[in-house]
Amino acid sequence: MRFCGPVMKTRPGICQRKRRFASREECEAVALGAETRLRTYKCALCGQFHLTSRTKGLRPPRGFG
Ligand SMILES: [Zn+2]
Repeated sequence: MRFCGPVMKTRPGICQRKRRFASREECEAVALGAETRLRTYKCALCGQFHLTSRTKGLRPPRGFG
């Protein structure tokens, strides 16, 4: 799967607690519907996608946002 967005190393506890998405499309769909601005990132731990409201340390993907 190709993904040009940010990849983050998540702590195991955080990864388990967070909601997981199998695809970036699904993750972004939820992010778009959220009240707060959420960012999609690929988790280096589980290989799936999470949402975060914290943008610090995340580089915005090119041509996105
Ligand atoms: Zn994860």
